[in-house]
Amino acid sequence: MEADYVIIGAGPAGSYLAKKLAMRGASVSVFEKEKKVGIPVQCTGLFTEKIKQFVNTNKNFVVNTTNKIELHSVKSKALIKSNEIVVNRTRFDNYLKEEAEKSGVDYYLNHCLTGYKMKNNRVELFFDNGLKVDSKNIIGCDGPLSTVNKLFKLNEDNKCFFAKQFVVKSEEFNNDTFHAYFGEEYNDFFSWIVPCGKNCLRIGTGNSNHLIVNKLLDYFIKKLRIKAKILDVNAGLIPLHDPDRVLFKRFNSSNVYLMGDAAGIVKATSGGGVVPSFQMINESYKYVLEGESLRFPKTRFELLAHLALHKILSSLNDNDLNQVINEFSDEIVSNILKTLNRDNIIELVYTLIKKKPELLKYSKYLIRLL
Ligand SMILES: Cc1cc2nc3c(=O)[nH]c(=O)nc-3n(C[C@H](O)[C@H](O)[C@H](O)COP(=O)(O)OP(=O)(O)OC[C@H]3O[C@@H](n4cnc5c(N)ncnc54)[C@H](O)[C@@H]3O)c2cc1C
Repeated sequence: MEADYVIIGAGPAGSYLAKKLAMRGASVSVFEKEKKVGIPVQCTGLFTEKIKQFVNTNKNFVVNTTNKIELHSVKSKALIKSNEIVVNRTRFDNYLKEEAEKSGVDYYLNHCLTGYKMKNNRVELFFDNGLKVDSKNIIGCDGPLSTVNKLFKLNEDNKCFFAKQFVVKSEEFNNDTFHAYFGEEYNDFFSWIVPCGKNCLRIGTGNSNHLIVNKLLDYFIKKLRIKAKILDVNAGLIPLHDPDRVLFKRFNSSNVYLMGDAAGIVKATSGGGVVPSFQMINESYKYVLEGESLRFPKTRFELLAHLALHKILSSLNDNDLNQVINEFSDEIVSNILKTLNRDNIIELVYTLIKKKPELLKYSKYLIRLL
């Protein structure tokens, strides 16, 4: 079999990119190792309103919308007005697949990429069911443990957080507020409660120390002292963004690319990867069509800013975190946060510092880290 563009992985990045390429006339085939798209779920499905720039959200994959975020530290709390969209990832991924199919993309489910060899100067891919595919362009949208990355030796494995969440039935939290908990006890990540429909919550935590995540989640749930019936458990890896990651390699006359989690396109502050991946794809798909290396300057700078903020947040002790959360209760800060969100982090930080220059005192943490 031959295909102009082979995408490995039918997650959000794979299907969104497939549609973009097919709409420009390219012949695109997507290969997915699972029998069904969007399963298993490894996501909380929380997006800022920026998602609306990329997909129509008037669809049944939206299960809730929240309009407040409550930030918690050991001794402080701050309530911010901010609109968020909560999706059912299985439905969301299937919607993106259907949209790509409407543009002419072919899907091959239950096809796991396992190897390759060079044939007539081009890459021939091997799948676990014996299929062989010849292609000039191979794009790894195959998640944090990308097989494409490993086979074509683009990078060492990503440094990843491990995140786990329970989907629970509980009546104890308002449906319009998403909660984020920070503190030394959560080390270099945070814990969350995201309402995902009537009496339904996604409660989770993450950490770069994978061994402590199970205990940390049990501890967090106990600390909340809520009555909750567990309906489901989701877990997975979240890559830490690495600005030095190689995302393109030429193999004789074939081009190999990485996108989405495989490329580490994730906000280091929140672990959210879907919006930045879509933004990166919008900025860079034309380079894939032209067989060139990727360029995505806006997304790259945004991700670097998230990485710097992540490093600052992870270095704060509980007292510092209490102080930072208190700043969020200030009216000037909360008014800015109503209109700007974490998917426009550079503009957000710039506006905050312009309107409240005293926030610059936190740059001492960055200087300490350099
Ligand atoms: C617990 C948790 C909570 C999260 N919450 C959020 C959130 O609220 N908001 C947010 O934006 N992000 C969140 N994320 C991150 C988000 O899930 C990812 O950034 C996003 O799924 C990345 O999309 P992707 O298409 O790059 O990769 P994936 O969604 O991982 O898709 C990769 C696909 O490739 C397939 N594949 C892998 N290997 C092969 C192979 N060899 N051959 C064929 N197919 C293969 C996989 O089966 C999979 O379908 C969370 C992650 C976790 C773990």
